[in-house]
Amino acid sequence: MLISADALMHMYRYRQCSPWAKEAGGQLFGTISAEQILVTAATGPYARDERSRYRYRSDPAAAQHAILAQAESGLLYLGEWHTHAEDHPDASGLDGEAMHQLLAKSQLNSNALLMLIVGRMLTVDSLGLWSVTAERVDQWHLEYIIT
Ligand SMILES: [Zn+2]
Repeated sequence: MLISADALMHMYRYRQCSPWAKEAGGQLFGTISAEQILVTAATGPYARDERSRYRYRSDPAAAQHAILAQAESGLLYLGEWHTHAEDHPDASGLDGEAMHQLLAKSQLNSNALLMLIVGRMLTVDSLGLWSVTAERVDQWHLEYIIT
């Protein structure tokens, strides 16, 4: 799996580096081929999201709008991202629950959604990546960041 520099830079703008910064997040978009999942764009946060220091939920209407807009440029909805005020982010029970709810509600081409959590640091171990299906949650390890 590859995450484009554009998508990463978008998410990095919302890292929770100050003690009062709230969680931010949104949706991930890209392409899937036999060889590679490519995340090329990240959207959000949106004006009507639920945001606090330790919680983020996208405004469902804004998320749906983003999904339709990205589909027009040929990009698939791949999952969700949000920030954590941690250096080595771990998915909370609520995060897993939220992903399962999204899976149940969404009409997807695939049966899995990605969940990316962006920690405070610029290192690769400050990015947490999970894939979520109805049956299971798997953590993935990103190998490196090209700068
Ligand atoms: Zn979280």
